[in-house]
Amino acid sequence: MAICRRVVLRFPKNLVEKPFVYHLVKDYNLQFNILKAQVTPSEEGIMSLELKGQKDNYNKGIEFLTKAGVTIEQLGQNISKNEERCTQCGLCLSVCPTPALALDQKTRQVSFNSNHCIACEMCVKVCPVKAMEVKFD
Ligand code: SF4
Ligand code: SF4
Repeated sequence: MAICRRVVLRFPKNLVEKPFVYHLVKDYNLQFNILKAQVTPSEEGIMSLELKGQKDNYNKGIEFLTKAGVTIEQLGQNISKNEERCTQCGLCLSVCPTPALALDQKTRQVSFNSNHCIACEMCVKVCPVKAMEVKFD
């Protein structure tokens, strides 16, 4: 069975330079799409990516990463905005790392475009009325 998952990988300082993504492709036949990558001030590497492949290969790839010392967090697959709950307070705009949440200049409403969303869930944490919702597969 083929699956597609969004995950956040955290690499400790000593692993930042290692070619883990290369191994996921070569050894586990996974496809990837890097959504965001950065190195924090403490030199920890954080990479948000979408991984696709056969389920058993995906599981083996995740096991390989875990054994190597990479921390993995699986992200919610679908984020949606409950328009009835949203009070347009704008809090989520300040934490969204992508253009997924934006202020519509004409209507002055907060709009959500799922095509840009990387499911980091930052908006879910800050929304005071729980208008940003996560659904898992
Ligand atoms: S989960 Fe929320 S904060 Fe993260 S990218 Fe999507 S809309 Fe933006
Ligand atoms: S934080 Fe919640 S209530 Fe405020 S604009 Fe964003 S989705 Fe709407």
